[in-house]
Order: sequence, then structure tokens, then C-alpha cells
Amino acid sequence: MSKTVVIAGAGHGAGQVVAALKQHEFDGRIVMIGDEPYLPYQRPPLSKKYLAGDMAPERLYFKPESFYDDPQIEVLLNTRVTSIDRSAHTVSTDGGREIAYDKLVLALGSRVREVPVAGADLPGIHYLRSIADVDAIRADMLSRKNAVIVGAGYIGLEVAAVCCQHGLSVTVIELADRVMSRVVSPNVSDYYQLQHTERGVKLLLSTGLAGFEGKRRVRKVLTNTGQELPADFVVVGVGILPNTELAEAAGLECDDGIVVDDRCQTADPDIFAIGDCTSHPNAIYGRQLRLESVHNALEQAKTAAGNICGVESHYSQVPWFWSDQFDIKLQIAGLSEGYDEVVLRGDPSGGSFACFYLADGVLIAVDAINSPREFMQSKTLIASGARPDPGKLADPEIPLKDLG
Ligand code: FAD
Repeated sequence: MSKTVVIAGAGHGAGQVVAALKQHEFDGRIVMIGDEPYLPYQRPPLSKKYLAGDMAPERLYFKPESFYDDPQIEVLLNTRVTSIDRSAHTVSTDGGREIAYDKLVLALGSRVREVPVAGADLPGIHYLRSIADVDAIRADMLSRKNAVIVGAGYIGLEVAAVCCQHGLSVTVIELADRVMSRVVSPNVSDYYQLQHTERGVKLLLSTGLAGFEGKRRVRKVLTNTGQELPADFVVVGVGILPNTELAEAAGLECDDGIVVDDRCQTADPDIFAIGDCTSHPNAIYGRQLRLESVHNALEQAKTAAGNICGVESHYSQVPWFWSDQFDIKLQIAGLSEGYDEVVLRGDPSGGSFACFYLADGVLIAVDAINSPREFMQSKTLIASGARPDPGKLADPEIPLKDLG
């Protein structure tokens, strides 16, 4: 077993690496280094319950503080890893420390994609990645009236829903011609567009951002269609970029993510990478993937920790995601990219339905809307490469578990 495991990053995945090393009774030293001021915490509630004020800050944390209160564990917060010296087996920090590792886990996550337009640095323009970001958004949400959201992906729509429920006037602008276009099919987009507009959210589709205006803080959002939208504050949610720079500078292969194998190992046998920052193989889909999901970060963390502890572990998972908007729970299993057939089960007007995606007859993904059973059972079908009969798939009377 190795003597010192250094974890660069102290987010969701990093916390799980520590937990999994403990479960494997790793008896060496663990050093977790994070550039945020917080112990590992969950980001999903940030744009949902925490923004809404329905979750206390202490419930965000992945583990209580006492979990890290262990002579085996050293946690360095507010500390950035600035470089990796692979031949010396050390990492350097911005505090001037050099820390030796036997195994290094890169759990660096991702950062928000910024919008390079005029006025982008005006106060009142927010991005959402951290607790500090959402605290600032919430302060604006509670004291102001007009919210403009840039981007109708999960995060933008979740923020729009919470702001709308707090009585604000909410406008969402989206470059694509439908919401969540990167992840769901047109009929699911239609459903969400209806739900948002019926509740008062103004959706401007096929509309790009041209700039921001204001003197001391943002007052207007300018669109590429010539509109000037009044804005007391803005939340931009236009995607993320994986944090690969540290790995690239250390000569590790990066291709839209730090490239790892199914053991979460880079080409350097002493360096692993997990979570949002990785590009990893997925046997079910037969290609490299980069995922932005808690499930992926947690499972890769367990895989890396297992391999570090000499327990041969391979990552092979059906990706899954979720989004809460108003009282609607969307659960997605699998990846729908490349589908050639869509099958609907249930009636969208009833508020509960599932949308299945097939490619060459194989079930590759499901979007389950307020349908947890369809979501759970589809995961098993997708993992097994099932070829369900589309007619039976569409029939809510036939249990999905009979279609494997
Ligand atoms: P992170 O949790 O981002 O942790 C990485 C950490 O490393 C960060 O703290 C970062 O600051 C730090 N770091 C980076 N570089 C350095 C360095 N050089 N030195 C030290 N520290 C460094 N996923 C879902 O599955 N479902 C959801 O509903 C969902 N909702 C989300 C809502 C929001 C608002 C956000 C922001 C994300 C959401 N996600 C959701 C995505 C999910 O949170 C991420 O996939 C997950 O956090 C990834 O974990 P990670 O450990 O890879 O990265």
C-alpha cells in the first residue's frame, strides 16, 4: 500500500476519495488540497434547495468536519496546487509548500465558461459554481425584481424556477431554438418550455447575448436580436470547462479532459484523475466521455481509491443526472446522443412520462419526468444493452423490467 496519497482539489469527488481510502483501511497519509475555503460539499443543491433557502448551509457538506479530524488526514484549504513535478513525485502549492506523494489524485473539477462581451465585469452579473456564488445570487434574488438568466441548460432553468417562485420577473435567453437542447429531445424541451412559460418565466429562444449595460452595476442585457432587457441582476449558465491545465503542464495527455483509463489512471501509473476534469472510456457507449455529474465523480473516486489500495477496480457505469425545476423532477439515465428513434411512455399533459431513446434498436437513454420507476428500471436495461420492443416500451401497463 502507498504511503502518501495527495488529492489535488477538495470537491465532491475528492471527499469521496478520502471516504473510499478509509473504507479500504488505507493506513498511510492523505493530504487533500483545495483552493476553495470549504471542506468538500455538494454542488447540486446550490441551484435548487440552497438557492431557494430550503437547505441549511451545514447540510451542503459531503461529510461533517469531524470526518477529517484524523491524524492520518491533512486538509489544506484556500490552497492552490500550482505544479506537479512527476520525476520528484511532488506537488507545489501557492503557499510555497512542496508536498511529496506516492500516489496523486487529480480531482480538479471544472470552472464556468465566461461570456466575453461588453460589460461582462459589471457588478450584478453572476456565475454559479460555489457556495459564495450562490450566496451572492440569493442576496440579489431577495432584494431585487428583474432577473435575466443567460443559458437555458439545467442550471439556468433551475435558477429561473427558483427566482420565479420567489416572485421575480424572470427572462431566460437561449441561443438554441429550444431549452436543454444539448441533453434532451425536442418533445422534452417542449414540455419544459410550457412549464416555465405557464408559471411566468419569459423564454427568449434563438436569442444570443450581445452585451451588458449599466453604470455602477448591470441594468440591461443586450441581445443579438436587438432587444434591451431590464436586469437588476444576471445569472450566466453557459457551460463549463474542465480544469486540465495542471495536468497539461505536467505532460499528461488531455483531450477535453485529463485522459484516464477505466482504472482512472493516467499514463503515469502514480497519477489518477477523477470527476468533471476527466476524459474517460465508457464501455457501454464505446467511446471517451467527459461528464459533469456527481455520480461520475463519486464512482470514479471509488475506482481510483480501490486501485491505489491494491483492489483492482474498473469504472463501468451508465451515466445519470437529474434536475429539479419547480415541482418537476427530471432524471436522465444514459446518453441520448446518436439516437434514431424516440418512444414516449405516458402523457406529458399528466405531468409524468418517460422518453426513451434507441439507436439501432438498442435502448441508450431515458428522460424520466416525475417517473422514478422508469428511471431506475431503464438504468438496468441500458447497462445490459437491451433491445426492447418499441410498442411495449410505449405501453405504461407493461413493466419495464419485463422488457430486458
Ligand atoms: P468539484 O466538485 O468541482 O471539485 C473540484 C475542486 O477542485 C473545486 O473546489 C476547485 O475549486 C478545486 N480546484 C481546482 N483546481 C485546483 C487547484 N489547482 N488546486 C486546488 N484546488 C483546485 N451534477 C449532478 O449530477 N446533478 C445535479 O443536479 C447537478 N447540479 C449542479 C448544480 C450546480 C450549480 C453545479 C455548479 C454543478 C452541478 N452538478 C450536478 C455537477 C456536479 O456538482 C459536479 O459534476 C461535481 O461537483 C464534480 O465533482 P468534482 O470533484 O469532479 O469537482
